[in-house]
Amino acid sequence: MAAAAHHRDITIHTYSEVEDLQPTENGYTATVRRKARSVDEVACIGCRQCEYACPVEVPDEFQGGFTSRKAAYVPFTNAIPQVALIDKESCTLCGACANVCPKDCIVYDQQDQLIPIEVEHVVLATGWELTSASSKAQYGGDRIANVISPLQMERLLAPHGPYGRVLRPADGKDPASVAWVQCAGSRDKTLGVPWCSRVCCMYAIKQAMLLSGALPFADLTIYYMDIRAFGKGYEEFYRSAKAMGIEFVKAKVGRLEEAADRSVNVHIERIDERGQAETRTHDMVVLSLGMAPVPDTRELLPLDLGEDGFVDVPHPKDAPCRTSLPHVTAAGTVTGPMDIVDTIAEASAAAMEICREGDRG
Ligand SMILES: Cc1cc2nc3c(=O)[nH]c(=O)nc-3n(C[C@H](O)[C@H](O)[C@H](O)COP(=O)(O)OP(=O)(O)OC[C@H]3O[C@@H](n4cnc5c(N)ncnc54)[C@H](O)[C@@H]3O)c2cc1C
Ligand code: SF4
Ligand code: SF4
Ligand code: SF4
Repeated sequence: MAAAAHHRDITIHTYSEVEDLQPTENGYTATVRRKARSVDEVACIGCRQCEYACPVEVPDEFQGGFTSRKAAYVPFTNAIPQVALIDKESCTLCGACANVCPKDCIVYDQQDQLIPIEVEHVVLATGWELTSASSKAQYGGDRIANVISPLQMERLLAPHGPYGRVLRPADGKDPASVAWVQCAGSRDKTLGVPWCSRVCCMYAIKQAMLLSGALPFADLTIYYMDIRAFGKGYEEFYRSAKAMGIEFVKAKVGRLEEAADRSVNVHIERIDERGQAETRTHDMVVLSLGMAPVPDTRELLPLDLGEDGFVDVPHPKDAPCRTSLPHVTAAGTVTGPMDIVDTIAEASAAAMEICREGDRG
C-alpha cells in the first residue's frame, strides 16, 4: 500500500467507494463517493490531538470490538494517509477537537464528494465477506464471550492488537487452552455454503503456530474433518505444527456451551474407528469461519455470477480473470475463496488480460 501510495502512475482514493459504473463507448464511467472526513485532509498532520481530546468512545471495529476508539480518530496505526476523520454517527458536536487542532482543520459540515472517472477497463477486486458467526446457533458465536471469530484472533495476535498480548476477552485471563473449530461456516449445505473456503485450514494452523510462540505452555487443539494444505510448502507447515505439539483431533463438533467459569465446553464426536462422543473444555475457542461472496456485486455491474454467488469466469483455464462483460476483469476472492498468494497472482493475470485486450485493439 505504501509503495502504491508513492507510485507516480497510481492515484489512490482512500475513504472512498466506487458507487456506480456506467458503460461508455470506450469503457466505463466510474462514480467514486469520497466520504466526508470532516477534516481538511491536506492540512491535517495526523498529530491525534483531536483524538486525545474527544470525550466520545465507541467500540473499535478495527480491533474486533475488543477496545474502544474515539469519535475523532486516525483509523489505525498503518493507515494511509495518517489523517484523522470524524465518525458523524457518534460525534456529539461538542467542539473539543476543533479547540485543540493545531492546524485548524476540523470541518464539521464537510460533505461527501462524487468524483466521475473515465476508465477503459475495470478490474473488479471487491473481495469477500466472512460467513456469519451466528449462522450455526449450536456454536454460540454471537452468545458465548470466549467464542471468537478468526478475524478477532488475528487482532489478538497482531503486534498493535487490542491488549498487546492474547487474553481471554470475557475476563482478561491468560488462556491456558485454546481450540479452533474447522469448517465452522463452510462445507454445510444447510447454511447455503457448500464450498470449502480454502483458507481456513491454513490460517488456523498459522494462528496456532503464532500462539504457541506467544503462549508456549498453552494447550492448542484444532478440531477438523479434513486438513486441506494444498499450496506449495503448506503440507510441511502442517507437519511442523504437529511436531510443535499442536493437537489435531479429527472430529465433528456438535455444539459449544459456556461453562460456569466462562470456559467453553466443546462436544465432539470423533471421526475414527470408534467414533466416540467426548466433551473437552477450553479457555477460548476460535470458529474457523469461511469466505462468502459480497452480496451487492451485481448492483455495481450486471455480471454473470456462479451458483455460489461469486463472479463467474467463463474460461477459468485459459483466461481466469475474464468475466462475462467486455472491459471488465476480476481478481481475487470476488471470483471465489483464495489466499493472498493466489490473489496476487490473479491481480497480475487481470492486468495481463487488459494488456491483451489492448493489443487486440
Ligand atoms: C481470519 C483470516 C486470516 C487469513 N490469513 C491469511 C494469511 O495469513 N495468508 C493468506 O495468504 N491469506 C489469508 N487470509 C485470506 C486473505 O484474507 C484473502 O486471500 C484476501 O483478503 C483476499 O484479498 P482480496 O483483495 O480478494 O479481497 P479483500 O481483502 O476483501 O479486499 C477487497 C477490498 O475491496 C474494497 N471494496 C469492496 N467494494 C468496494 C467498492 N465498491 N469501492 C471501493 N472499494 C471496495 C474492500 O473494502 C476491501 O478493502 C485470511 C483470511 C481470514 C478470514
Ligand atoms: S488535531 Fe487536527 S491536525 Fe491533528 S490529527 Fe486531528 S485534525 Fe489532524
Ligand atoms: S466534536 Fe465530535 S469528534 Fe469532536 S471532540 Fe466532540 S464528539 Fe469528538
Ligand atoms: S479450508 Fe479447511 S476449514 Fe476451511 S472449509 Fe476447507 S476444509 Fe474446512
